[in-house]
Amino acid sequence: MEKHELVIIGGSAGGLQAAMCAQKHHGLKDIMVIRIEEKVMVPCGIPYIYGTLGEVEKNIMPDKLLGEAKPKIGEAISIDRKNKTVKMKDGDEIGYNKLVIATGSTPMKPPVPGMDKKNVWFAWKNTDYLQELIKAIEGVGDIVVIGGGFIGLEFADECRKRGHKITVVELLEHCLQLVCTTDLCIRAEDSLKATGVNIITGNGVKSINGTEKAESVTLQNGEEIKCDMVIVGIGVVPNTKLAKDAGLEIGPTGGIKVDEFQRTNDPDIFAVGDCAEKYSFYNGTPVPVRLASVATREGKIAAANLFAPQWRNIGTIGVFSTILGDTAMAMAGLTDVNAQKLGYDVIIGEAEAASKHPGTLPDARPMRVRLAFDRRSGKLLGGCACCTHTVGEVSNMIATAIVNEMTMEQIAMCPIGTHPFLTASPLAYQFTDAASNALHKAKKRVEVA
Ligand SMILES: Cc1cc2nc3c(=O)[nH]c(=O)nc-3n(C[C@H](O)[C@H](O)[C@H](O)COP(=O)(O)OP(=O)(O)OC[C@H]3O[C@@H](n4cnc5c(N)ncnc54)[C@H](O)[C@@H]3O)c2cc1C
Repeated sequence: MEKHELVIIGGSAGGLQAAMCAQKHHGLKDIMVIRIEEKVMVPCGIPYIYGTLGEVEKNIMPDKLLGEAKPKIGEAISIDRKNKTVKMKDGDEIGYNKLVIATGSTPMKPPVPGMDKKNVWFAWKNTDYLQELIKAIEGVGDIVVIGGGFIGLEFADECRKRGHKITVVELLEHCLQLVCTTDLCIRAEDSLKATGVNIITGNGVKSINGTEKAESVTLQNGEEIKCDMVIVGIGVVPNTKLAKDAGLEIGPTGGIKVDEFQRTNDPDIFAVGDCAEKYSFYNGTPVPVRLASVATREGKIAAANLFAPQWRNIGTIGVFSTILGDTAMAMAGLTDVNAQKLGYDVIIGEAEAASKHPGTLPDARPMRVRLAFDRRSGKLLGGCACCTHTVGEVSNMIATAIVNEMTMEQIAMCPIGTHPFLTASPLAYQFTDAASNALHKAKKRVEVA
């Protein structure tokens, strides 16, 4: 039986990052990364296969990222904690000194009649399955997308670029409602509608109909929508069977329970990414945030802590960005609604200005930043940005300010650099101006040292 210093089950965002960091941090060379798939998908790139990229092969994570870690392709079927081994489906046994579980998640299948019909597809992160979807989508006319979260909307937007007629069905009042403020949700919906996508909100799918294949969906209000294909994007379920069977504890949102160092209840086993439980940065309660950026951060933390606690996970906030039609948007931390649910008295600061200065420069577009602060402490709780291509970096800046507990005063006074082609004017820089706006509203004064 072969034995390795570090074995990682899972070769996607969380597992790969753990392998990379274990090499950089500890100089570890004896690492095995077990994964089911021969080629690993860039998970966030999956919707773009069906429009902009056009091919599965253009959405592969390069194995060179593994460095000196060795990949093993196959399915792990059990973990023997006493003997510190992983059993593979092909009968192999692999010994470990330290084990990282990064088994990720699989698409959620809602209990709706007709879900098993042919031509009902999910966002499986599997090359062969996604290749089959490429073939299946050829020649298809109308597509119904179930779920108006960012995965569903990105699929909708990419498929409409191929000329399909798309209807998105979302159960909640708005698409993206769980992660965005209402104004951004409406912008996202309007942007897609402007490209011809039909969006139905506040209505669920009651059944998928057809003899063998999906031919229509019936909505909860009785309306029937004809279709040739259904794509379901309503969320994911953490893959925890291996961990559960091995007696590792599972948390309230269904992820493997971990401490602030990503350790499970076995000191030699860590868990990271979609399969691991997350805890809110704001109050430490379990939160179901499952993102690649979160998975990679946890991969780094687990790798650093393999032999002794070194890096602490200070808690999770959701940070995400997307582009739908020609509208880019990004969000970090709490929405106003979620902040109020946690008991914060929220004060909003807003600023909008041209993305370049002067605003007459080619491609200058209005960019708006909206920040939500806690009135009592002045600390930043969340924020969003819309609608230029730089908003992804703005939400990362917002996230940095949140986890460093920056106040409206500190953000308003932040040093910034500007350039006509690259940023807004220093007279109207959106991030610091939104904080100033909140500060004026709060009628606070910047203290002079
Ligand atoms: C369509 C789509 C778009 C997305 N877009 C974004 C985005 O824009 N930004 C963002 O931050 N997040 C995005 N996400 C979420 C992101 O993909 C996940 O959070 C991320 O993939 C989680 O990484 P992971 O390593 O934890 O798990 P996964 O990516 O789920 O990988 C799990 C790995 O474990 C392996 N594995 C599982 N079970 C076994 C076993 N028994 N034996 C051996 N190997 C096993 C699999 O083979 C795989 O390698 C998107 C997700 C989807 C589906």
